[in-house]
Amino acid sequence: SPMIVSFGEMLIDFVPDVAGVSLAESYAFIKAPGGAPANVACAIAKLGGNAAFIGKVGDDEFGHMLANLLNKSGVNSDGICFDKDARTALAFVTLKADGQREFMFYRSPSADMLLKESELKLDLIKQAKIFHYGSISLISEPCKSAHMAAMKAAKQAGVLLSYDPNVRLPLWPSPEAARDGIKSIWDQADFVKVSDDEVEFLTKGDPKKDDVVMSLWNDNFKLLIVTDGPEGCRYFSNKFKGKVNGYKVKTVDTTGAGDAFVGAFLQAVAKDPNLFNDENKLKEALVFANACGAISTTQKGAIPSLPDKAQAENLIKEAK
Ligand code: ATP
Repeated sequence: SPMIVSFGEMLIDFVPDVAGVSLAESYAFIKAPGGAPANVACAIAKLGGNAAFIGKVGDDEFGHMLANLLNKSGVNSDGICFDKDARTALAFVTLKADGQREFMFYRSPSADMLLKESELKLDLIKQAKIFHYGSISLISEPCKSAHMAAMKAAKQAGVLLSYDPNVRLPLWPSPEAARDGIKSIWDQADFVKVSDDEVEFLTKGDPKKDDVVMSLWNDNFKLLIVTDGPEGCRYFSNKFKGKVNGYKVKTVDTTGAGDAFVGAFLQAVAKDPNLFNDENKLKEALVFANACGAISTTQKGAIPSLPDKAQAENLIKEAK
């Protein structure tokens, strides 16, 4: 089946073993592999799709553990590089009692930031149907230049571009730098997925208002999707817009829900690139993506909780 290449960071989240504590209060942490672009690649593979990941990790225990995890998950890992000097990126993450996520990153610099243009497996990118990326790889050089070169190669080869900015403010020098950096590649994408919170951050407006969302529209886009946790998602295109309701599940950890959603959606696009011209088909794909996002919240960790096709179809059937 057509290949989807996901580009960016793969890292280890350290998550408190009990819920609702701050990072300072936490006694013990569990290793949870993550990094949004890597999660997306795993989500696609779990659904039976053809996914590859491009990024850099440290030539250390954690880096090899992550590369092995990709292989075990059925993701093509030919595009992974190992840095001899820098360590695999680490992030300490917690969902505090007030429901806010707290992040602390160890990047000084971490291996993912050191991917060079010369290390890119361009053949992999040129063969793809879809090239997917976030914004964390834009934060510093040399990774930023590698990211730009990869996008350019994809575009020249007629590959569809998919962008999920995944705003992580603590990684940027300032909120303004984040906004500018994230927007600097905005007009290149064919599809963009943002969350409600990200719409608010980027526009400084009310994300519930369609005209606020549409202020993010670019005429190069085929589709703009706004997700809103358990509420589901809204979609905006040149021809139509609407909402697709989410699913009620027993949520224990929402980490990676957006990535499960994006992976499911991209797999649908890979199978049918004309999805955007038919609103019913598009809605069907978004129903499926919502189901995948919901299921991913029912277990801890981003990658272990990714659903297969049958699980998602069951949730959709049960909810009818
Ligand atoms: P993250 O950054 O945590 O990976 P996100 O903020 O990018 O996620 P969300 O809007 O939280 O994205 O979630 C993406 C999709 O996953 C939603 O559109 C919805 O379909 C599903 N989802 C997320 N949280 C829940 C939940 N608590 N219950 C049911 N479905 C959910």
